[in-house]
Amino acid sequence: MRFFVPTNIYIENDCVKNHADLLCAIGQRALIITGHNSAAANGSLNDVTNTLIAGDIPYLIFSEVEENPSTDTVEKATQIAQKFNADFIIGIGGGSAIDAAKAVALLLVNPDINADEIHNAPNHPRNHAPVVAVPTTCGTGSEVTPVSIITNHKINLKKSIPHVIFPELALVDGKYLASAKKQLIVNTAVDALAHMVESILNVKSNLLNRMCPEYGLKLWGEIKYALLLDCDNGDKNGAAPNATPIDAILYEKLMLTSTIAGMSIAQTSTAVPHGMSYDLTLHAGIPHGPAVGYFLAAYVEVCAKFVPQDVEKILSLLGLKNAEEFREMLCKLIGTCTVTREMRNQFAAAMKENHSKLDLVPGKITPEDIDYIYKKSLVVE
Ligand code: NAP
Ligand code: ZN
Repeated sequence: MRFFVPTNIYIENDCVKNHADLLCAIGQRALIITGHNSAAANGSLNDVTNTLIAGDIPYLIFSEVEENPSTDTVEKATQIAQKFNADFIIGIGGGSAIDAAKAVALLLVNPDINADEIHNAPNHPRNHAPVVAVPTTCGTGSEVTPVSIITNHKINLKKSIPHVIFPELALVDGKYLASAKKQLIVNTAVDALAHMVESILNVKSNLLNRMCPEYGLKLWGEIKYALLLDCDNGDKNGAAPNATPIDAILYEKLMLTSTIAGMSIAQTSTAVPHGMSYDLTLHAGIPHGPAVGYFLAAYVEVCAKFVPQDVEKILSLLGLKNAEEFREMLCKLIGTCTVTREMRNQFAAAMKENHSKLDLVPGKITPEDIDYIYKKSLVVE
């Protein structure tokens, strides 16, 4: 059994300011990578730039990362990093900005890798420039995972690149969630939930690495009432009568849970629901959290055939009575997803060949099981 997360992680209010010395010790010249607006709006960018100015570290900002970052964006940011002679990368934002930062950190010191070839470039030990991650969503856990998920539109592929890129430093501050809309918090929290469920329902799950998802699911079970309160996608009956709205204390708990969920998949990787989500995002434009969440209940149902005690444990940690309650909760949080019958059939056919994910199922999953998951998870128009 092994547990490995080499990232120096701080989770606290005013994290960036509190650990300015660590941030400034990572390198001499920084490229900051963000999405279009949110990092400037939620104060995270300001916290980082003030720290770099005080530490006399020159920096440049690249604020063009789109949701589900593309090889083109990674290529553009790498050229800017090279021209600026950056020697470390700071990713501020959701998983998209942090994943892009990781890919740029790889390309910066490996000029032989072309961005369009990044998914196929050999992953023998590769250096990368150091990465600092400042998450502003509560879902991907990318600040503590070795994974960078990049989309190549030229070949219609959304997939993690094969290289191991753990951030050196993760500065996690819940206050950056204050500017996020409720549905963004819900969507990304569902992603974190999926990370923990898929980490347990996984052949790589063991007594040592379960400490993360088991603790994280208990936290998620406590947060769920606030997520369900006034949820746009359902009636208000999902929340406990004394549920309170999401506030500053919950922001920290959401971030903690998300980082723990990231530590979970850093050990096991994600499983079938994530494998299924990528086509839904790529071809139907569904954001990552719901795209994964739509498949989660049916995956749990199928896994109950193989590892019933693990499914029971997951449900009890979440404070749910049975798999049906799990399905109903997800439906209230993210609604349902409609695609054409043709799309659903194409996605299912592709998934049947996705052995890297299917081999992680803790039992012999059949083509019929895969069809069942698609039928239960996606409505056809
Ligand atoms: P995201 O794609 O990074 O961001 C979604 C949206 O949220 C963007 O429009 C962004 O705006 C906005 N946003 C971010 N923080 C905000 C805040 N605090 N307040 C208001 N708006 C905010 O979403 P995500 O779900 O965090 O990341 C999804 C990506 O991560 C996917 O590509 C997924 O495949 C990947 N992922 C990676 C891992 C991993 O281990 N590396 C794991 C799971 C998923 P701006 O554009 O203005 O910033
Ligand atoms: Zn995810």
